[in-house]
Amino acid sequence: MSGMLRVVLGDQLSRSLSALDGLDAAQDTVLLMEVMGECEYVPHHPQKIALVLSAMRHFSAALAARGVAVRHIRLDDPDNTGTLTGEVLRAVAALRPSGVVATEPGEYRVAQAMAGWEAALGLPVEIRADDRFFCSLPWFRQWASGRKQLRMEFFYREMRRATSLLMEADQPAGGQWNFDAENRQRLPKGLNPPKPLQFTPDAITTEVMALVAERFGGNFGRLEGFNWPVTAAEAALALADFITHRLPLFGDYQDAMAEGQDTLFHALLSTSLNLGLLLPAQVCEAAEAAWREGRAPLNAVEGFIRQILGWREYVRGLYWLKMPGYAALNALGASRPLPAMYWGAPTSMACMRAAIGQTERLAYAHHIQRLMVTGNFALLAGVAPEAINRWYLAVYADAFEWVELPNTHGMAIWADGGIMASKPYAASGAYINRMGDHCRGCEHDVKAATGPKACPFNFLYWDFMARHAESFATNPRMAMPLNTLRKMEPARVAAMRAEAAGFLARLA
Ligand SMILES: Cc1cc2nc3c(=O)[nH]c(=O)nc-3n(C[C@H](O)[C@H](O)[C@H](O)COP(=O)(O)OP(=O)(O)OC[C@H]3O[C@@H](n4cnc5c(N)ncnc54)[C@H](O)[C@@H]3O)c2cc1C
Ligand code: SF4
Repeated sequence: MSGMLRVVLGDQLSRSLSALDGLDAAQDTVLLMEVMGECEYVPHHPQKIALVLSAMRHFSAALAARGVAVRHIRLDDPDNTGTLTGEVLRAVAALRPSGVVATEPGEYRVAQAMAGWEAALGLPVEIRADDRFFCSLPWFRQWASGRKQLRMEFFYREMRRATSLLMEADQPAGGQWNFDAENRQRLPKGLNPPKPLQFTPDAITTEVMALVAERFGGNFGRLEGFNWPVTAAEAALALADFITHRLPLFGDYQDAMAEGQDTLFHALLSTSLNLGLLLPAQVCEAAEAAWREGRAPLNAVEGFIRQILGWREYVRGLYWLKMPGYAALNALGASRPLPAMYWGAPTSMACMRAAIGQTERLAYAHHIQRLMVTGNFALLAGVAPEAINRWYLAVYADAFEWVELPNTHGMAIWADGGIMASKPYAASGAYINRMGDHCRGCEHDVKAATGPKACPFNFLYWDFMARHAESFATNPRMAMPLNTLRKMEPARVAAMRAEAAGFLARLA
């Protein structure tokens, strides 16, 4: 073969991928690799493995149908070496290409492996930028350089200007950059969010599910009920379904939680975006069009676009700016092992039970559950960053390190000491009670901070504040809770801290 070997990784399933630019169907071969190394570096939820493998197989089939030569290495191929590098070496030995073309990966770990390919193969290896994002990595680096603080809100405004999304000339549509103040409502009684679109597994997905059940059936998470789009066409249907049925109320109930409501008005588009089945521009343009055509209000559309144009791009930029040191940060010196309830052990806490239970069933929880329930608990209890990061990376179908790590490390547990968030997202039970109805059916009393029925979020919150009072003293955004703590009766603080110590000891 005198053509190129074009490598496509499992989260690079976009027809417009830079590695496929200039593809010569007469000479080139596209390589896709299902390898054990990628399936088991954390104990992924079975739905996540099934999603990636099925989407890869569909992508290969679509390329082959267009006459492209595809070398698709299946997980159960007897000669499979189990690693990406091993499979690239094997493909080069078999096909003798004149060079290798790839797109930069989403994870630092994989980038390290790819950096060694040229030497290992003895062939030119071209690694192209991943241009499926609004913001290139050099652009982000330039934006960040010289800034004392890397706040998302300012980055987001730059991105609005750069893309013209939701802009009226040089001003933000509606005269405001951010409509969050309107976006913090509880779900009212009687309002039933529409169910997401159903996707029936086809022959490819069914075959993959059998393989996953056999090899990864012991991992945390249920495989039955798998309902993720596995092709660009299915993802486009999921996008259209969201825009029509859930986007109009997305903003109002973005922060809400409700017993028995797994998905509320959320998009369920992160898996399709992260695998490349949808492009962020396609999603944001569809949302903007809905507003311009009067099909969705501005607070919803701005809130939604901010998640993708703002947060998603920002966490990617931050990840590549700060790795590899970022993963090792532990600003609060947290060291507790992950409590067994995260892996499904029974818990008396209704909010944790709901978030973890649906994670097990769906490989999905919405943002407020990840941040203010499971993340908040890990923050307050002082769970070791590597333990909670590993959990988030394993259990969500949309979890890839470039997006998972900053969200966990920076936003949820403040292990980065404020690079991302100006203060820890720490909250007592009152926040969870304000945003949802879990407390009503809980064994604990959300109003109590001591005693047999006390809500663990309450005593853990004050124990956390007391534990870190000294280091938070210089943070003006922590002044309010620290003042409240200072004004409390010392005996009350001591009682809550004793409650916290007993609870954490029992948890261990
Ligand atoms: C501790 C923690 C871990 C997380 N881990 C991941 C992860 O591994 N993968 C992942 O894609 N998201 C992660 N998020 C962000 C967010 O929770 C998910 O993107 C979202 O819940 C996906 O569901 P959805 O598609 O229904 O999102 P929606 O709430 O409907 O939001 C729309 C889209 O915006 C994007 N988005 C929203 N919030 C964020 C954010 N904070 N960072 C990046 N993109 C965002 C997603 O692409 C999402 O599809 C994490 C958040 C926290 C707090
Ligand atoms: S009472 Fe506390 S533990 Fe129970 S659901 Fe409310 S916040 Fe969660």
